[in-house]
Amino acid sequence: MKTDLLFAPEQLKRLACRILTAAGSSDKEAEIVAAHLIRANLTGHDSHGIGMLPTYLRSIANGLLIPNTPLKLISDTGAILICDGERGYGQRVAREMMDMAIARCRDTGLVLTALRNAHHIGRVGSYGEQAMAAGLISLHFVNVTDHTPVVAVHNGADGRLLTNPVCFAMPGTAKHPNLLLDMATSKIALGKARVAMNAGKEVADDTLLDSHGSPTNDPRVLFSDPPGALKPLGRHKGFGIAFFCELLAGVLSGGGTMQPEHPRHGGVTNNMLTILIDPQRLVNNQWLESEVDAIADYLLASPPATDADDEIMLPGEPERRHAEQRSRDGIPVDHETWRELLAGGTALGIPESELNACQTTP
Ligand code: NAD
Repeated sequence: MKTDLLFAPEQLKRLACRILTAAGSSDKEAEIVAAHLIRANLTGHDSHGIGMLPTYLRSIANGLLIPNTPLKLISDTGAILICDGERGYGQRVAREMMDMAIARCRDTGLVLTALRNAHHIGRVGSYGEQAMAAGLISLHFVNVTDHTPVVAVHNGADGRLLTNPVCFAMPGTAKHPNLLLDMATSKIALGKARVAMNAGKEVADDTLLDSHGSPTNDPRVLFSDPPGALKPLGRHKGFGIAFFCELLAGVLSGGGTMQPEHPRHGGVTNNMLTILIDPQRLVNNQWLESEVDAIADYLLASPPATDADDEIMLPGEPERRHAEQRSRDGIPVDHETWRELLAGGTALGIPESELNACQTTP
């Protein structure tokens, strides 16, 4: 197998900006979307990084993603904000929604926001990071619509849902900063199956069903017709959380659920319900920090299990380590993803030589 290509983060971001502006985005929008994608690569989530651009170009061509669409505020009743993404870049409209909600939370201490009809919002952890940078706690519930369902319900044989992610973020302390749980409710994110397929790899046992409902390790089943399905995380428990994402994000945002009467155009639409909390309204900072440090230290001091597959870490730690390593050593991109980026870029009229020029060793 060929080794991945390696890019300095700034080079990859320039490449993303070039493709995004060629696809119609203003410089400012391209900068926001590109920064989000590269941060996903940096934190180790290649599934939500620059490799999403070919999908976005297809969505633009099909009228499912509309560049230069700002967030639309539908309703503002103090601590409750309802917004419509109107099929704009999710990375932009969700960020704008978070900016608005963070400003409001300074006054109200607690904010609930519902965002509907955003094109793919990407790595949900990035909105948790936005909240943490403002000293706030955030809880996010997301559903996915407009796409063929490829996540099975517990004990089901076919896809009925998508990967409905949840994210919980808390600023933490100097010793344990940025506590961030950000995860799909399927066994793995759909994008991770795409990354495995592009790299010619299999996925772990007990992750996938083929289109007949039988177990398989071949990620290609998810991208064939009829598709197979990802299994829900943690059996009935992950399914239960995914179901509540449909209820909280899909129903309460007004954006809708995966129920079959809603159209499925083959795009990726996200709805998100977000709760922002100012911790200072609840406890004093000294107590919060000492208690967070105490519980974090206690958990990390557990002796490793005999079948441990890694050291004990808190949620958010793998991303922090990836970001440190990839900022230093560069971001790997597999050859299939690179081929798709070149095809997408040249179709927009960008000379291949210009795209290839980004490909220098960091
Ligand atoms: P993952 O399985 O890589 O990580 C999930 C969480 O577990 C993270 O918070 C991570 O910090 C933590 N974690 C990982 N290994 C750990 C360990 N050994 N010890 C302790 N904690 C650990 O993430 P995923 O489920 O594959 O999701 C990947 C990304 O996909 C996320 O950013 C998610 O937001 C995104 N996503 C987006 C959508 C969408 O529709 N926009 C849908 C699904 C997923």
